[in-house]
Amino acid sequence: MKTFNYHSAKEVKEASKLASSNSAFLAGGMTTIPSMKLGLATYKDLIDIKGIKKLSGIKASGKTIKIGATTKHVEVAKSKEIKKAIPSLAALAEGIGDPQVRNRGTIGGSIANNDPAADYPSACIALNAIIHTNSRKIDAEKFFKGMFETSLKNGEIIEAIEFEIPQKSNYQKLPNPASRYAVVGVYVAKYKRGVNVAVTGAKSCVYNAKDLAGALSKNFSSSAINNVKITSSGMNSDIHASANYRANMVKTFAQKAVDAC
Ligand SMILES: Cc1cc2nc3c(=O)[nH]c(=O)nc-3n(C[C@H](O)[C@H](O)[C@H](O)COP(=O)(O)OP(=O)(O)OC[C@H]3O[C@@H](n4cnc5c(N)ncnc54)[C@H](O)[C@@H]3O)c2cc1C
Repeated sequence: MKTFNYHSAKEVKEASKLASSNSAFLAGGMTTIPSMKLGLATYKDLIDIKGIKKLSGIKASGKTIKIGATTKHVEVAKSKEIKKAIPSLAALAEGIGDPQVRNRGTIGGSIANNDPAADYPSACIALNAIIHTNSRKIDAEKFFKGMFETSLKNGEIIEAIEFEIPQKSNYQKLPNPASRYAVVGVYVAKYKRGVNVAVTGAKSCVYNAKDLAGALSKNFSSSAINNVKITSSGMNSDIHASANYRANMVKTFAQKAVDAC
């Protein structure tokens, strides 16, 4: 049997105070619980943050959509405000895992975990997201540091993720047939001042494909990236797809996303 202390926090300050180098926050538990069951992680303290009211909910303003960290994937997928302002974000949430995962998994847990194949990190980069924590605001580009690594400090809690509403956007992914994680996922977002292309699943961490974004910023059409060379160097290679296949998928999905915008 695995033993640990369970705490149910009612305030962000309380949760942060309970944290240590040997604790985890419990949002939906969709990563933490299986990791503990499989013996991949052990914690002395689990700090349940589901009861902290200010961490949940969706707020739309004219320019941004702000989503509380413990908001579940199903709530993002069904939100009328998000469907209206950033339909691609609602569609991304609808494509995560299965109904059980979508009914427990949270946006904050997803980005804190920073799985290299998770969907939300690509949305954060493409949609110029700002990650609001209990101590600062972090640009998405600076938040995702490497495989399962973020710039969060010990005890730092994500409170909300604020997305800039684009003119147009679309997300395309090749889902793993079992888990639905992205073998490759490409999020394209067009703003007045330029285009972002964020890629997940292809490398050890989500990244901004600046060469594709640059070409699309000059000419927003799928043919504009015909001649952009995507190298397979640094791409993942596993039973699902080789590095070369992933490199091809990055361009193909970027083109599909542009066409679907
Ligand atoms: C079968 C299965 C299929 C899945 N398929 C997909 C998929 O297709 N696409 C996809 O993107 N994801 C997928 N996921 C991941 C899922 O969507 C969850 O978002 C992810 O597992 C995180 O779970 P959680 O939100 O319950 O966080 P938890 O498991 O509760 O926490 C995960 C980590 O995040 C930290 N954390 C949680 N909340 C915060 C916070 N507010 N501030 C700071 N740190 C925090 C915790 O300390 C912990 O380290 C899948 C998961 C499973 C089990």
